[in-house]
Amino acid sequence: MASNARTYIAKILKEGVGYVGGQWVRAASKREFEVVDPASLARLAMVAEMNDEDTRIAIAAAEAGFKDWSRTTARERARALRAWHDAVMREQEVLAVLMTAESGKPLGESRAEVAYSASFLEWFAEEAPRVVGSVDSGVGSDRRLVTVRQPIGVSACVTPWNFPMAMLTRKCGAALAAGSAVVVKPAEDTPLTALALAWLAQGIFPAGALNVVTTSRAGAERVGAALCDSDSVRALSFTGSTAVGQWLYERSAPTVKKLALELGGNAPFVVLDDADVELAAACAMASKMRNAGQTCICADRFIVHESVYGDFIEALLLRMRGLRMGRCLEDESANLGPLVNSRAANRAADLIAQARDVPGTRISETHVERVADLGGFNFVSPTLVEVPLDRIYQTRCWTNETFAPIVAVAMYSGPDDRALAIANSDPTGLAAYVVAGNLARGWRLAEKLEAGIVGVNEAIVSHAHANFGGIKQSGLGREGGSRGIDEFLEDKYICLGGLDSS
Ligand code: ADP
Repeated sequence: MASNARTYIAKILKEGVGYVGGQWVRAASKREFEVVDPASLARLAMVAEMNDEDTRIAIAAAEAGFKDWSRTTARERARALRAWHDAVMREQEVLAVLMTAESGKPLGESRAEVAYSASFLEWFAEEAPRVVGSVDSGVGSDRRLVTVRQPIGVSACVTPWNFPMAMLTRKCGAALAAGSAVVVKPAEDTPLTALALAWLAQGIFPAGALNVVTTSRAGAERVGAALCDSDSVRALSFTGSTAVGQWLYERSAPTVKKLALELGGNAPFVVLDDADVELAAACAMASKMRNAGQTCICADRFIVHESVYGDFIEALLLRMRGLRMGRCLEDESANLGPLVNSRAANRAADLIAQARDVPGTRISETHVERVADLGGFNFVSPTLVEVPLDRIYQTRCWTNETFAPIVAVAMYSGPDDRALAIANSDPTGLAAYVVAGNLARGWRLAEKLEAGIVGVNEAIVSHAHANFGGIKQSGLGREGGSRGIDEFLEDKYICLGGLDSS
């Protein structure tokens, strides 16, 4: 499979290029940066190291692309998105291999992500013709209050490495459906899938409607600043860390952009006293171990009632031990890969080390020898950290989103509101989970949880159909669903007067 990925890269990518104005272009500086397989650190490709100058060129290309694209009919946009969807699904297998190569995630997860990514293109193809305004005739016979919905214009999409395709299609699918043009900046760890998507989009959209500006970590701030500082960029959609989101928010203030920010969470996972423990453990695994714990909606803080605590820990540890850790490009049956890079792996090691220093914590690591067998690299052993309830706020893997296969669990006693208070005591509010035997109890808790997304007896909650986004410090706006397209539209109110001839 590794050779598959390389053949595909060779087929689609001239090395060292980004995609601007419908052309494959080198960086103004002529510099490039390396993309590696996180499971082995083997080099996969060199990609253009673009900077602020390249970004301004891409914005100008998007302005030109916007002129053509915004004039198309909604039905034409729907057909184009559908064609992109079909192209992605035709190449599903190689795209999945490419994604596993640069992100390290299990191949089964990559295959599922390609289909999930394509589902956003299909969804927004269907949404495009449903963008309609309104007419209000209620204020008097001499006038009509008309609202037309217009594409916002050039939109910047800054995407993360954990879902390198799905986050791109979720943003660009919505923007393009609205008639807006986009400049995408993919994450430095995973630019190849973004370039592959652009390659598949060639000839479908007018030149400049979709642009991809690649840059290394060191260059991200310059590119980000150029996007924020531009008056032509009217919307910015970002998925990533809270710190970078806050920086983009602040930097966008002078140009007063419309922002959609999908930032970090620290999701509570509440197991009530009447929960089915096997279901709770299965949901915990599905949420926590997906992409080795590197999703924004991964369960993070497990709040488990004392009456089911022992059984839950036993069921969970059994499943954690059963995970097959491996280099996912070589081992198709592996369901746990490495973390994306050494920064992530070192951070996970620091969180576990800090938890060891907290009195009363109990730590179970399940794959220590396997990590050594695999040569270390960015592999992190799935780790269960049991934290005494009175020490949770001293334990960093409790107070921080871990983005690693670390399960922090605390035991509570008493009524459901005790669990609710712990769950809500965090400044973030992206996802939350409840496992309950009595659905009415689960529902009541779901309504009181401070999160934009709640799973009740269900851990897989992301769908193209759903409005995805957070509250509190987890962000602004919604993606996907019926609301996702709104981020790339402006409402214009036109008052049509002089209608009363009598
Ligand atoms: P992580 O720490 O998990 O990599 P980040 O929030 O740093 O998450 O990265 C998400 C995306 O934001 C990536 O595409 C990254 O390159 C980008 N990024 C990081 N810093 C900036 C910045 N100052 N401006 C624009 N994009 C940035």
